[in-house]
Amino acid sequence: MKALILEEITTSELEKHIDNIKIAIVPTGSYEQHGPNTTFATDTVRAYEIAKLLGSKYGDDLLICPPVGYGISPHHMKFVGTITLRIDTYVSILMDIAWSLKQHGIKKIFFLTGHGGNRFALGTAITKIKMEYNIDAFWAGTGSGLVKDLLDKNKCSAIRGHACEAETSQSMYLAPWLVKEDALEKGKLRKNTKYRIKEIVRDGGAFWDFHEITENGALGDATKSNIELGKEITDLVIERLSEMIENIIL
Ligand SMILES: [Zn+2]
Repeated sequence: MKALILEEITTSELEKHIDNIKIAIVPTGSYEQHGPNTTFATDTVRAYEIAKLLGSKYGDDLLICPPVGYGISPHHMKFVGTITLRIDTYVSILMDIAWSLKQHGIKKIFFLTGHGGNRFALGTAITKIKMEYNIDAFWAGTGSGLVKDLLDKNKCSAIRGHACEAETSQSMYLAPWLVKEDALEKGKLRKNTKYRIKEIVRDGGAFWDFHEITENGALGDATKSNIELGKEITDLVIERLSEMIENIIL
């Protein structure tokens, strides 16, 4: 089916579809370091490409909105080039997008994040969107977190989730220009990384700075990346997101 992608259509074209749209998909990511392995745009582009694949599956049931490129990345700031929003700024942007979509009759919004660091702010945003604008909003990830079973089955590194073989493989499949194939490196983990990663999971939002976890900014082992794994991850991500979407809109 032809995806309904806001960036690629006119207002006259959208008018023909607006009454059919059941939910708006808003991809969100980050512009943060991914070590030597992939570019700053990795999370945003992955999320956008996943959104477009869902758009091709569901046609004008979904409105695929332009991505919110910047995200919550204070834990990557010690690596040159990372840009972060403050939580209030990020939540405000998502709320303004939701408010705007509501003016055009969109009643449901699904934020797809390519960046785990956004998750706590996404929880805040969807709660505020519901309370203040009475719009049903949802969020989900688009990578490792959604397919833990598959990554375990493929014996991916235990400490993973950022610039690792899973994310780099998915990037190879979805947007190969993100990947620096000749420069791929295994994550250079620092002492106590295991403990710190556990702390991140336990404490939720209390991030350790990534430079305290990994010397080169990467986790896992991106040298093991391959396009087949990227396709396998993406297919399962689409399957699981489809299940969520169908539960929400049908
Ligand atoms: Zn990433």
